[in-house]
Parts: sequence; C-alpha cells; structure tokens
Amino acid sequence: MSRHSWGYAEHNGPVHWNELFPIADGDQQSPIEIKTKEVKYDSSLQPLCIKYDASSAKIISNSGHSFNVDFDDMEDKSVLHGGPLTGRYRLRQFHLHWGSADDHGSEHVVDGVRYAAELHIVHWNSDKYPSFVEAAHEPDGLAVLGVFLQIGEFNPQLEKIIDLLDSIKEKLATFRTLLCTEEGEAATFLLSNHRPPQPLKGRQVRASFY
Ligand SMILES: [Zn+2]
Repeated sequence: MSRHSWGYAEHNGPVHWNELFPIADGDQQSPIEIKTKEVKYDSSLQPLCIKYDASSAKIISNSGHSFNVDFDDMEDKSVLHGGPLTGRYRLRQFHLHWGSADDHGSEHVVDGVRYAAELHIVHWNSDKYPSFVEAAHEPDGLAVLGVFLQIGEFNPQLEKIIDLLDSIKEKLATFRTLLCTEEGEAATFLLSNHRPPQPLKGRQVRASFY
C-alpha cells in the first residue's frame, strides 16, 4: 500500500481514512476534545517518569505526514513508565502535528482551545513485546505522550531548547514547506497534518491532578 494512501489533503484526509482503515471509526480513536469539567480525578494514577538518553536519537526523516525523529530502540535507553502504564515503554520516535496557521494545529483540544502544534512522543511496551512492529498491533502496545506547543516570547529558561529549534514559529513555517508528495507527482506542501477531535464513545478522561 502506498505510504500516501492516507494523508491530510482533500482526497485522502481524515474523513476518508475509514474507507481504507475501518478502525478509524472505532471506539477508541484519538484525538479527542478534553472538557476539563468532565475529567475525573484518579488518585491511583502515578506521576509519569521519563528517562531519555539524547544520544539514542538516530535519524530525522520526512514521513510524508510529518517529520519523524527516530531513536535506537534495541534496548531500554530511553523509557517512559508510571502514569496509567504497567511496565516500561521504550522511546521509538517523535513527530509533530501542526496547522496552516499558528492559531491551530494541535490534535487534542482543551475546552475549545487549539494550540499551534502538538508533539507526539511514541513509545512501545518493551516489557511485554519483542519489537515496535509487534507492539503496534496490541491494545497495550503503544504509549504516546502529547505535548502542546504554543507561540511565545523568547524565554531565557528555554534557551537550550530554543537554540535547537530556533523559534517554534520559524520552525512551524519551515515544517509547512515539507513536501507530502512522491517523486513524479505534482509537489504539494504539507500545510497541515492534524486530525479533528473524535467522539469519546463512552470513554472517561482521567487526571492525576485536580
Ligand atoms: Zn501523532
């Protein structure tokens, strides 16, 4: 199947995903709109624990849907545990979702608020499964950490990160110039790559804080 069988353009965007992938109409689809008044405090949720080893970053690539930064996941160098998770989840890759302008772009929405971008840090259950590919098919196989990004003033506390990313604003402008077409096709820019919120279908959103 072509890597461009799904995408974010009019002919292959989120409303068409169910034609090729019936699971896109499933009961546990992401993203969602989080309504903070309906979130339930759960005292059993542990803090999330992150241990990342920057030296395990391998390559950056254009997936046609985003850029991906892939990590060496042959062993537990960079791991996530705690929160609602049982066992350790190993870092595999991160990617970003953005919009055609800075006033939207995040996938999840909080009380109607959309952020400029959303970072997705993807991990797989290395305690239970032998590889990312095998874990990806299992209900407890993947854990994705989402981080909202918004455009802000220069912040000296964030200098280290800003040194790496220039500014998020410039970077978002750069991301929109990524091509989402294959060789031989007319060039199309990846202006936007976020899916709109999906129905909750009875799910309860839990929080570890009030
Ligand atoms: Zn994502």
